[in-house]
Amino acid sequence: MTPQKISIDSNNNLVVPNNPIIPFIEGDGIGPDVWKASKKVIDAAVEHCYGGERKIEWKEMLAGEKAFNETGEWLPAQTLETAREYLVSIKGPLTTPVGGGIRSLNVALRQELDLYVCLRPIHWFVGVPSPVHYPDRVDMVVFRENTEDIYAGIECNYDSPEAKKLLEFIRTELNAGDKVRFPETASFGIKPVSKEGTERLVRSAIKYAITHKRDSVTLVHKGNIMKFTEGGFKKWGYDLAKNEFGDQVYTWEQWEATKKADGENAANQELEKAHHDGKIIVKDVIADNFLQQILLAPQDYSVIATLNLNGDYISDALAAAVGGIGIAPGANINYTSGHAIFEATHGTAPRFAGTNTMNPSSLILSGVMMLEYMGWDDAAKCIKNGLQTSIMHKRVTVDFYKLMDDATQVSTTEFADEIIKHF
Ligand code: NAD
Repeated sequence: MTPQKISIDSNNNLVVPNNPIIPFIEGDGIGPDVWKASKKVIDAAVEHCYGGERKIEWKEMLAGEKAFNETGEWLPAQTLETAREYLVSIKGPLTTPVGGGIRSLNVALRQELDLYVCLRPIHWFVGVPSPVHYPDRVDMVVFRENTEDIYAGIECNYDSPEAKKLLEFIRTELNAGDKVRFPETASFGIKPVSKEGTERLVRSAIKYAITHKRDSVTLVHKGNIMKFTEGGFKKWGYDLAKNEFGDQVYTWEQWEATKKADGENAANQELEKAHHDGKIIVKDVIADNFLQQILLAPQDYSVIATLNLNGDYISDALAAAVGGIGIAPGANINYTSGHAIFEATHGTAPRFAGTNTMNPSSLILSGVMMLEYMGWDDAAKCIKNGLQTSIMHKRVTVDFYKLMDDATQVSTTEFADEIIKHF
């Protein structure tokens, strides 16, 4: 078998050879420990499921402290080039360099490759300690927009000439000077939200719901306050659902229209029928209400599409409900170009670097997402089974051990071996 690159065909379908070359960044702090465990589990699952027929050829890329020590750069151009060339890669956590004008490495990677979806599946594994009564009711997949919103990084400090100019523009052109309560000391941030940016995100979410037989897509927004940005997201999202997916979806707007014309009973019957016919229900919820709903009625939500900042809060709040960042996986994806980086969602936990004690589940489950993205579903399933059984046997790393009764504490490496034992 000759190692080959993963590519994308003219219909935007990923073409995955049996011996794909996949670049990895091991990460800083606890990164090397959790990466070593993850690589072992992923390789073992591929071997277990496909014999010698399929095998991943790993290729190291440098980033973070390791890159800085070896090359003097935090994110060498070569790394970006490799991620671009090989399409699919995986990474451990990276230190964010403090000061010196260096952006977060993660944000840089996302922006350079235009990875517009931050994908976070939130699923509870039986037995994982949780602060909520019914973590089994949480089963959501969050599509967080990754390239726009207040995260675009367009800000100016209150005492800069740019802030003064902006204030002048607000006063004279927007006639809204009185809305800046303390003009002398107000800093400004700009929140770009576009139709194209919204459409590609919502399109990905609806396609995902159709492919994975999920019953609803919820647009989460603050359109009640920010009419043109968050409100635009809601409007463009509904328009896209209607225009591109037609009969495959039933929207809340249709429900409202029927209610207005024929009453609530008729609208509910229509909704019931749409659900029965297997249509995806596209609805929307205001973000603050949604943060209540994920505690009160998480079973009512499946696929979530939301803007960058809301998505940040929602992903972490949901992760906490199913066991926290030690187990929550993530990915950043451009479904059009095929580029995808799968990553642990926790940081480098530098205090625990080299201790071989931390939970590798976040990176292992990111590997599971990667295998699913590649269409290697059997290997993905096999890892999930192994992880579930290890947790049920209560042989877990320190973070879970402290919260479980009668558990046995195992190291990062031993936890990986447990998973493999229970494929
Ligand atoms: P952190 O996630 O590194 O650690 C916070 C705490 O969470 C740790 O002290 C530990 O108790 C717990 N924790 C984290 N990962 C765990 C694991 N796998 N198993 C068990 N417990 C775990 O957050 P931080 O301390 O705010 O950040 C440290 C560094 O990581 C910073 O430089 C930050 O910028 C960076 N960071 C990177 C990423 C990323 O690369 N995706 C994400 C977040 C933070």
